[in-house]
Amino acid sequence: MLNMLRELFVNVLIIIASISLGNMITRDRDIVVKKSADLMLGILCGIFGSLLIIYGVKVSDGVVVDFRCIPILLMGIYISFSSSMITSVMIGLFRITYYGVNSVTLAAFGIVIACGICCGLIGKLKVSVVKKWIFAFLCVAVITSSGFVFLLHEPEVRKTVLLSYMIGLTVITAISYLLMHYIMKSNVTYYHMESAVSMDFLTGLHNLRSFDYGLNSAIRYAKNTGGSVSLLYMDIDRFKMVNDVYGHVSGDYVLRDFGRLLAQESRETDLVSRNGGEEFSVVLAKCDIDTAMRIAERLREKVEQTVFFSEDHQSIRITVSIGVANYPLNADNAEELVLVADKALYAAKQGGRNRVLAAEPLRAGTDCVTREPMI
Ligand code: GH3
Ligand code: MG
Ligand code: MG
Repeated sequence: MLNMLRELFVNVLIIIASISLGNMITRDRDIVVKKSADLMLGILCGIFGSLLIIYGVKVSDGVVVDFRCIPILLMGIYISFSSSMITSVMIGLFRITYYGVNSVTLAAFGIVIACGICCGLIGKLKVSVVKKWIFAFLCVAVITSSGFVFLLHEPEVRKTVLLSYMIGLTVITAISYLLMHYIMKSNVTYYHMESAVSMDFLTGLHNLRSFDYGLNSAIRYAKNTGGSVSLLYMDIDRFKMVNDVYGHVSGDYVLRDFGRLLAQESRETDLVSRNGGEEFSVVLAKCDIDTAMRIAERLREKVEQTVFFSEDHQSIRITVSIGVANYPLNADNAEELVLVADKALYAAKQGGRNRVLAAEPLRAGTDCVTREPMI
């Protein structure tokens, strides 16, 4: 009995390890290539399922049971039909390799494949996760118990094995469900916190912290690949007047809609941020200064032509001044790039506002002199 509990405990640890590792792999990734993630997780759970076979629980003389169906169930419920099939095929093949080909291993292969198909199909159902767990548990219990009934002919042994297996399966399924439930809940909190520290609350754009991180990463990448990065540093003109005339709430409306306009006018790969107050920026990766100047000029015009609205639906017109700088043309690092772009912005303000100015090339002079757009 003590041995059985010890072996059961090892099985629980293997399942906890597989869930934790799967979560580590998927949580921080934008799984762009979904198919490769399915394959990776399917293989990972196939390995853990095979480990469960090695660490099977001895329930009676010559009879060992294991919980290889749990990784299949997890794949079916949380990932996809294909990953559930990959896991089940891997486990089935391992079972054949480990114990050799005979009628029992072939039956076991059929059982895991049946579990894979059922769990994969249950994962596709449009029902709550709890229901999926219940359905998958019942399916797995019926399929695997039928296997025992088919393979064990001695009534006493059959009864002992079935009873021990069902108790073990219920306990392990419950532990796996609780662990997954806990992980899913903490992931939601994690994603909320992550977006709270990187997003600007009013506009939904990136905030200063995220801008800093993104600009540094873009420049590091450009340094390594010999590429370039352009920065549009902008500030809404005479925004204090908008607040004074229409009120602070209307000012917030304008900032929010300005942010939307910036996001709409930018590519998905651009890093659009609200750097504070009425100051915004766009980081353009793989973009030379002339292209950046054209983009900035287009943005400036768009802002000039757009009608914004106050809280009580009065139309508001604003303009924006933009300083444009480029790595490696104007700066050697992120800090310098922000500095020269800010200087160009300041010069645009001094020059009368509602204009775009580019920073002068770094090597051309000591301080930042600016020039008008070439278009
Ligand atoms: P300039 O053309 O020189 O940039 O003039 P400005 O009035 O835009 O610049 P200034 O720095 O004097 O004023 C910025 C104003 O932006 C002051 C502040 O009340 C307003 N502001 C900053 N953050 C917010 C915000 O979150 N909401 C609102 N409604 N206003 C804000
Ligand atoms: Mg300002
Ligand atoms: Mg301003």
